[in-house]
Amino acid sequence: MRNKFLLSCAPVSTTRQIIPVTSKSNIGYAVMLHGGAGARAGRDYSEAEAHLKELAQWASKELWAGGSALDVVTRIVAKMERSGKYVAGRGSAPNSAGYVEMDASVMSGPGQKAGAVAVISDVVSPVTVARQVMENTDHVMLAGPGALAFARSQGAELVENPDDYYVLPVGALKEEVHGGHGTVGAVALDLKGRLAGATSTGGTYGKLEGRVGDSPLIGPGTWADDSIAISCTGAGEQFIRSGGAAAVAWRYRSGLSLNDSVNGMLDDVKRMGGDGGLIAVTAKGEMAAVYNSEGMKCSSASTREPASAKTFW
Ligand code: ASP
Repeated sequence: MRNKFLLSCAPVSTTRQIIPVTSKSNIGYAVMLHGGAGARAGRDYSEAEAHLKELAQWASKELWAGGSALDVVTRIVAKMERSGKYVAGRGSAPNSAGYVEMDASVMSGPGQKAGAVAVISDVVSPVTVARQVMENTDHVMLAGPGALAFARSQGAELVENPDDYYVLPVGALKEEVHGGHGTVGAVALDLKGRLAGATSTGGTYGKLEGRVGDSPLIGPGTWADDSIAISCTGAGEQFIRSGGAAAVAWRYRSGLSLNDSVNGMLDDVKRMGGDGGLIAVTAKGEMAAVYNSEGMKCSSASTREPASAKTFW
């Protein structure tokens, strides 16, 4: 069976588009990636789409070979950070004080373990540091200079010369200082039935120094438990106020369908004046991507569906 959401994307509604959920009896693995819900109509994201597809293919091989969902989502997001093609890692935009501050988080379904970093500067891969917070500390989140000091203690790869390192992500315009945003994320279900999610961002363009969005927050930005894994992207303030990813998970665990769960939360974001999107995968192998912004870049793969990628409008 082909991946419905990538192949039968209906004309865009002005407010929202739900991508049909795939139900599977024979579960296998499933992986979904997003390159942010800040995509603008009419721009060329083909380079990012090709990259997203390549990453879904890579993830497919890893999961098929028995790789863990947690490793796959962490490594996918780290590759996206390094690529400079998205508003995360190398593609991050400076804050209003003129320098890059990044946020990232990772969560593992089994045991609901989590790690995060917020307003971290000068590291190549914030999500790798988030994973180290999860594994090597008693904490869930480190922020600012403390996060950087911890990253150094873990031997993190550092950005030596920020002026040369950071680049404009695919589709972004130089003059786009305010209002733009973007994020990367991945969710996966592995062959052992374990779920995981990860998210990383450079945040919103022109944000105030010290601003923390939803992406590093376990709950609003990223969630994974035994039933569902979710990564959000969009106007962070409204995602935080609506509960974001965890609010989807609570709806789903209370018995609502995946469609109703994702739409319920995104409707709340819209009511509060925000927009964005999310990707989700469940322990049953259902996958969904939904957004109410102008566009969102996605890719996916599963046991039954080859890797494919698209920017939805
Ligand atoms: N959620 C991110 C933030 O508010 C931005 C995005 O996903 O586009 O920092």
